[in-house]
Amino acid sequence: MPPTRIKAIILKRTDFRETSVIVSLLTDSIGKITGLMKGVKTPAKKIPPLAYQQGVCIEALVYLKQKGGLELVTKPEVIESFNFQNESANLWKKLVLQVDRFIPPSRFNSNQIFDLLFQAGKIIRELHNYRAFEIVVTERILFLLGVGPFLEKCLVCGTGENLYFFSGKLGGLICSRCQARESTSFKLPEKHIEALRFLHKIPIGHIPVVKYIPEGLYLSLTKCINEIVRYHMAD
Ligand SMILES: [Zn+2]
Repeated sequence: MPPTRIKAIILKRTDFRETSVIVSLLTDSIGKITGLMKGVKTPAKKIPPLAYQQGVCIEALVYLKQKGGLELVTKPEVIESFNFQNESANLWKKLVLQVDRFIPPSRFNSNQIFDLLFQAGKIIRELHNYRAFEIVVTERILFLLGVGPFLEKCLVCGTGENLYFFSGKLGGLICSRCQARESTSFKLPEKHIEALRFLHKIPIGHIPVVKYIPEGLYLSLTKCINEIVRYHMAD
């Protein structure tokens, strides 16, 4: 089979033998794969070390195996280095590791989630509020993975009224009547629900506009996200 050309963000990288590396890749088209870059550190190959660093976006060729597993990745070229300093670097590393943790290696149409992470990397330098960014990007990744947050109607009875409680287990809002039967749910102030809806809809490119998140709101939003992660993401 001919190789497949991919774009991918390197989520994790492990050295393998003297001259090779194993990388976890979020691709733009074929999901998340684990790839072997054989002999990339051999000087004769003239591959810049940046082409196999964590957090970098590359273009490469993959020889896909029918069964999956460790795929052979060749000719990596850097498209975008996402080379940040200090706090930005920490944030980017945290995000890519989080994506690595959330998504097991699997073939799926990963276009949207790749675009999201790529766009996120593009705006890190413009940020005023790292916490807002982290919440929105994490929320968006979870939503694209299909686990919520769902904010339009009660996830138990379907009503659109009195949605004042959140259940991470169910992945979103539930109404005041149904909350009694859902022991893991908790109440959210109406303002926080509005903020959650607002952040859910904001285009990623607009996040730098968010300059400030009050502490109480931050804690609420973090709790919602963490509860979804706790119930739906394998560790
Ligand atoms: Zn209900």
